[in-house]
Amino acid sequence: MRIRPFIIVLIASVFALEGTARGQPPIKSTTDSPSVTMIKRSTPAVFLLRAKIDAGMFALGTAFFIDDTGLAATNFHVIADAISANAVLRDPAAEVPVTLVAVDPGNDIALVRVDVSKLATKPPTLRISQVEPSQGQDVWALGFPRGMSMTVTKGVVNAVRGFDELPADLRKSLKYDKASRWVQTDCTINHGNSGGPLVDLDGQVIGMNTWAWTSQNNSFFALSALHISALVTTPRTQDVGFDGLKKVEKRSRIAGTLAPDLDVVRNVPAAEVIQAAKTFAQAARCSSCSGKGTITSKKRTGEQRGNGIIYPIFSDVTETCSACEGSRYSKKKAVVDAASRLILKLSRMKENDVRAPAAMKAIQDALKAVVAISPASLAQTINDHAVTQLTDVDLKLGSPVLFVGHLDKDHVFHASEERVQLVSVDGKKLMVVIKDLLSIDASELEQVIVLGISSGRLVGPDGEIIPVLSNGCTMALRERNNP
Ligand SMILES: [Zn+2]
Repeated sequence: MRIRPFIIVLIASVFALEGTARGQPPIKSTTDSPSVTMIKRSTPAVFLLRAKIDAGMFALGTAFFIDDTGLAATNFHVIADAISANAVLRDPAAEVPVTLVAVDPGNDIALVRVDVSKLATKPPTLRISQVEPSQGQDVWALGFPRGMSMTVTKGVVNAVRGFDELPADLRKSLKYDKASRWVQTDCTINHGNSGGPLVDLDGQVIGMNTWAWTSQNNSFFALSALHISALVTTPRTQDVGFDGLKKVEKRSRIAGTLAPDLDVVRNVPAAEVIQAAKTFAQAARCSSCSGKGTITSKKRTGEQRGNGIIYPIFSDVTETCSACEGSRYSKKKAVVDAASRLILKLSRMKENDVRAPAAMKAIQDALKAVVAISPASLAQTINDHAVTQLTDVDLKLGSPVLFVGHLDKDHVFHASEERVQLVSVDGKKLMVVIKDLLSIDASELEQVIVLGISSGRLVGPDGEIIPVLSNGCTMALRERNNP
């Protein structure tokens, strides 16, 4: 996520340029092909959705207007963890709050409403097709991959499938409604495309871009638009509201191959990270022996006789601390908790802070000491906790995760064509994709400590769910003489 602030600045400047240079560009010029005309007409109806997860943390997805009251559709998984969300509109350039109208987690849809009454011009809307597309038909995906400005990709409809027609492995991982219908395309979509429209040459919405299957042949899946119409026409008495999300069953979250991009505001000074590393080291220290590894106590070591009385002799005896078995480090979950607080600080650390390298070093020293020197049981405690987190359907976006694993060979995840590292959590064969992480002197196949925040899940080649971490670091845990 190192380049995120730059990208955000870039988007802002693109908006500004378009704002000043606008003055009604012609919708159709003589050289425009029908598809270019359609794209020009459709894109103003599509906007970036910034869902606030936490202070300074946002999930980025795509949404599109479907009626002139400001009703818009997106993926449920974009807003599943949100406490509020804003629509980033392009024309007129504005960022306005949205309300959450209705959700359908089983089909991964959410309807939001933008108050368009105060906008200078009403945004256009996209028509939802009432029939399923034909195999081989041209389609275009519109959206904001990785928070970039509006991007268009083209493909054809490979197939329209019912959920039951997906391979069994996929069905097991994806928790969608059994009745859900999917438009399979070769129209490349990335994180941030989530919730965006898949349109035909008439600009009609035939699907909502939702997930990708990163097998050898990339396949991209859009939810059939028929489900959007169904949710729009479902009678409702009141809006769900972001407060109401807590009561919604989040079973579709585990899908989210196109987990929304995480946009984290990085404003924590490195000094705070260094302090958190110290606090972590403190928490990691065994409290029974105060981190000495030994306990010294007075023990009866003999006796002395005098005047017919037996006097016991006590002297100082130093023994290995039984609580930490001499390791000097606590085995308690308190270590994991302190590490979690450290990771949250790190994920928001200012990138250009002059003390950033010192902070990384402080973290490395603290973690290496704890994980490398302590008995295997602590690493086990940490990994067990991580596996519980990473396999939890309800793991919140942005949750801190720490584990000890092995760095796999560099691996390009072609769905997003970004270079990512695969790490396996030892003992459990759980793969984790690490992206946008700083890597500290760790090389392929080496044992590493991984820390980062959860930023979604990918569907792997065999339909397995692969958790994704970002905004942290991997660091080598070199072999030492200690166990
Ligand atoms: Zn101890």
